This record gives sequence, structure tokens and C-alpha cells, in this order.
Amino acid sequence: MDATTAFLIAMGFTLLNGAVLGFMRPALTENLKPSVTDWRIGTLLLAGALALFAASGASQTLWVLPIANALIFVGFALYARSIRRYVGRRETWSVFLPGALGLVALIWFTFFMPNLAVRVLIASGVNLIYSFAVIHALVQHRRTERSYAGAFLIGLLLVVAVLVIARVVYYASIGASAASITVTGNLVAALSPLLIAALPIVGTTAFALLCFERIRGELHLLATTDALTKLANRRTIAEQAARLFEKARQTTQPLSVAVIDIDHFKRINDKYGHDAGDLVLTRVAGILNENVRGTQLVGRQGGEEFVALFEDANALEAQAAAERLRAAVADATQPLGEPLETVTVSIGVATISASDASFDELLRRADRALYAAKLAGRNRVAEA
Ligand code: GH3
Ligand code: MG
Ligand code: MG
Repeated sequence: MDATTAFLIAMGFTLLNGAVLGFMRPALTENLKPSVTDWRIGTLLLAGALALFAASGASQTLWVLPIANALIFVGFALYARSIRRYVGRRETWSVFLPGALGLVALIWFTFFMPNLAVRVLIASGVNLIYSFAVIHALVQHRRTERSYAGAFLIGLLLVVAVLVIARVVYYASIGASAASITVTGNLVAALSPLLIAALPIVGTTAFALLCFERIRGELHLLATTDALTKLANRRTIAEQAARLFEKARQTTQPLSVAVIDIDHFKRINDKYGHDAGDLVLTRVAGILNENVRGTQLVGRQGGEEFVALFEDANALEAQAAAERLRAAVADATQPLGEPLETVTVSIGVATISASDASFDELLRRADRALYAAKLAGRNRVAEA
């Protein structure tokens, strides 16, 4: 197969993958769209470069090279920006700088000091800079979010980088010659379309997987956390509680639960409005979350009621933990500034006993303790 055919095939697949990404776009969430747009335009530009290489064939006119390389550089820059956007990095115009500088250098070594080896070096250098920009962003991202697609893309970029370096070494070893990268019957030359098309073809699949990983993560977050307070939601608490209850049963480790309810919350709503009430809820949730330790988990059970799970805590330890939460809320500085009075919580605590058939029974006892705390005057902890 000659290089022109290879370029044409690579272009066809590149366009196809760009189209697939285009079909996917409406199904993606809004926050992913800027990233997808960058990747798509990058793919189209690379397809354009491949078309130019294919069209120019063996009779390569000089002006084709800078134009095709400009398309490649901007395409790679857009890939880098796409991934930077994906991982939530600040966007800067500097992402286009290596490409712009590379292009100026390419024009120089095409028209003023023609030198193929140097041109290959420049094109490969720009390619490598963008590859490592993407790898860097993905590696940093993987520290916080496990991603198989990210690992795959990193692997692909590393393979491409090794091939690019091998190609540079080859051209450096044959020295400057009139040979062009589209020359027919040269194995290394045949590598060129493959390298240019590796990212738009295989990389786009990895990128699509990255998008779906992100959506899956967002769905998981939506399903497990409370929208207002960002704490674990009722369902998560129930799942964790069932797991901890089973564990406590099997190991005879203690397990305690606290039901935390904001005092006279209705008054806050009535006096300052529902939005102010929401703000107090968020603030109290934040304080509770900051004051649970280690394996303890706090979630929003619903309304102005929270549940804390104290794994491996006996009655005495649970009492102390609950008291710490109560005090943290009561001692907090005004959640809304003036003129809101201090917000307090009442807490009912219960510890697992042999007679508890399920976690719900334990929770019911904590609820009864909460009721006692309210009756006793609020802003206090009561035990079942
Ligand atoms: P107590 O000290 O006995 O617990 O009194 P309370 O006023 O806190 O209890 P009550 O159950 O009478 O009122 C709870 C109020 O919480 C009523 C409801 O409108 C309000 N509420 C429930 N969910 C939300 C919410 O998401 N946002 C806001 N702003 N208010 C909420
Ligand atoms: Mg209340
Ligand atoms: Mg309540």
C-alpha cells in the first residue's frame, strides 16, 4: 500500500470517528460539551491534514507542508485543551503557543533553509509537547478520580511518543535529504499517517469512554448524595447502616447511631423564609460533616433531620461523639449573621443490643431518645 492510500484510509477513519463523537454530543451533559467540541474540531483538523497529505502525494508542493502541519498543530492543541477542560483545569491561550512557534520554525525550514530532518524534529517536538501535556493532565486527574479510559489514553500517548521518537532518530540518521514523508515504499514514511491518525481514531474512542466515565460518576453522586447539603442521602445511609449492622452482628463489635434534629427549625423558616432555612440546613450539615471522625458517617435523613453512624462505638463513645456534634453546632458563629438566633440541635443516641433484629429497630430507639431530648428542653443529647 502506498503512502497516499494510507493517508486516505486514515482520513476516512478519522472522519468517521469525528462523526461518531458528533452523534454522541447531544447525549452528553452540558459540562462535557466544551471538551467534546474541542476534541471534535481537533479530529476534523487532523482529517484535513491527512487529506492534504493524500492529495499532494509524491508530487508534494512545498506549501502543503506548512498548511498540513498547521492543521495538525492546532488539532493537537485542541486535544490538549479538550483534556484540560475535561479535568477542570484553567483554560489559557498558551495551549496554542507550542504549535504557533513550531509553525514559524517549520515555515523557516521549508522555504528559507529547507531541511527535512529539522522539520521532522520540529513537528515531532510539538507533537510530543502536546502528548505530554495531555498525559500530565490525565495523571494528575487520576490521582483524584480512578479512570480506566484515562489509563488507556495515557498508554496510547506513550506508544505514540515512542514511535515519534523512533521516527526522529531514523530521519536524523539518514540526515537531511529530499525525501518527503509521503514517499512511497518507505516503512518509516508509512508510519506517518498512522501516527497522525492514532489519536483521532483510537484516542477518540478513549475520549468517548472518558465522557461516559464522567457521566457515570455524576449519576453515582446524584444517586448517593443529598442535593442541598451534599451529605450522604437517606439511601446511602441505609446501605451503609445495613452493612455495618451485619458486620457488628458477625464480629460482636459495637455500633451506635445518632439521630440529629435541628431545634425549632420551623421558626427559622417562618421568620426568615425558606431560602434562609436552606442556608441554615447547609451550614449545619457542614458543621456535622466537619465534626465526624474516621469511620463515622453523617447523612441527611430528610427535612431537618440527620443521621450519624458510629462504627465500633459503644454507648459511652457514641454519647461523647454526639455531644461533640451538638456542641459544634451550638458553638458555631451565626450561620446567617444578624439577626438570626443561635441554631441548636437535639440528638438521640442508641447502641446496638442483642435484641435489635435490624438496623431499623436501632434507629427507632435513637428516634425515641431524640423525642426525649426534645421534651427535656432541646439542645441536648439523650440515650435510648
Ligand atoms: P423541633 O425543635 O421540635 O424539631 O421543631 P421543628 O420546628 O424543628 O420541627 P418541625 O418538624 O415542626 O418542622 C420542621 C420544618 O422543617 C418544617 C419544614 O417546612 C422544614 N423543612 C423540611 N425540609 C426543609 C428544607 O429542605 N428546607 C427548608 N428551608 N425547610 C425544610
Ligand atoms: Mg426540628
Ligand atoms: Mg424533624
